Amino acid sequence: MLRISREDYELLRRHGEETYPYECCGVLLGQFAEDGSRAVSSAARCGNTRTDSAHNRYNIDPRELVRIQREGRERGEEIVGFYHSHPDHPAQWSATDLAEAHWIGCSYVITSVEQGKAAVTNSFELTGSDENDKRLVDEAVEVEG
Ligand SMILES: [Zn+2]
Repeated sequence: MLRISREDYELLRRHGEETYPYECCGVLLGQFAEDGSRAVSSAARCGNTRTDSAHNRYNIDPRELVRIQREGRERGEEIVGFYHSHPDHPAQWSATDLAEAHWIGCSYVITSVEQGKAAVTNSFELTGSDENDKRLVDEAVEVEG
């Protein structure tokens, strides 16, 4: 399960509307709970470095990711997930999304943006033990506040 404040939830959905018809992407920071759920305490927007195919691909600059991780740690936050949008496509992960997901135990949040308006937001947990058996599994999103 992913727990997220109304504010952060709206922020990631609005980000997808702003970058439409291109994909947005960002990082979710917070804490891993003992029950295996993740609690988001802040969301960091990223620039999409995929300029070749930004309408259906996303990529976070590794240097930007390292900076976000370091700044999060200074506030006592860990990277607990990632988000991106699917302009005019369902909020379901693609084969590419799975191939490019590497943070086992983290959430991957996808928002469908239909004609510029954020529609469905789904979250998937990357489970498995390594790259060979990793899977994206549906998980509940609890929006608080
Ligand atoms: Zn995707």
